[in-house]
Amino acid sequence: MSRLSLAPWLQPSVIVAGTITAIDLQVLWSRGIRGLVLDVDQTLAPSHQLTVPENVRCWVEQVRAHFKIHLLSNNPSHRVAWVAKELNLPYCLAAAKPSRRTLRQVLKTINLPPTQVAMVGDRLLTDVLVGNRMGMMTLLVKPIGPNGQPSCQDMLYRTELSLLKVLGLSSSSGGSSPGDD
Ligand SMILES: [Mg+2]
Repeated sequence: MSRLSLAPWLQPSVIVAGTITAIDLQVLWSRGIRGLVLDVDQTLAPSHQLTVPENVRCWVEQVRAHFKIHLLSNNPSHRVAWVAKELNLPYCLAAAKPSRRTLRQVLKTINLPPTQVAMVGDRLLTDVLVGNRMGMMTLLVKPIGPNGQPSCQDMLYRTELSLLKVLGLSSSSGGSSPGDD
């Protein structure tokens, strides 16, 4: 893809001003969202750790009461399966995002159209790109640290935000989707 054709696919519908627990669920519901597909590494749990922060566990319990949830990770590691088991959530690993193949399977599994599902993750070039390619709402969250707060090791996240600026896209929290009025 050329730079010009790629740029619109990188704009998150929302740049969340915090980690996954800062997502405004009422706004999602009011926009017709009924399902969430969640990245795992640094979105739900810090990389290379077998600990899901307590605030994330509470958040998942709150979300599952109202939304369908499915995990989608590029990581082929059994760690992803462990996190999914800890949270009692369905999952797919080695998803090869931004390829849409596995995400299509996930949408089929949760039985919702792309327009009713939000893709949530900390990476622009995988999570946001695959969600936008599927016509879903996309939420870019800050990478999570071991204590459930935003990670200090967020150079990749900040670099990808800079990429948005270079491409002339919105890089501020709460940025709206191209289709919004
Ligand atoms: Mg991630």
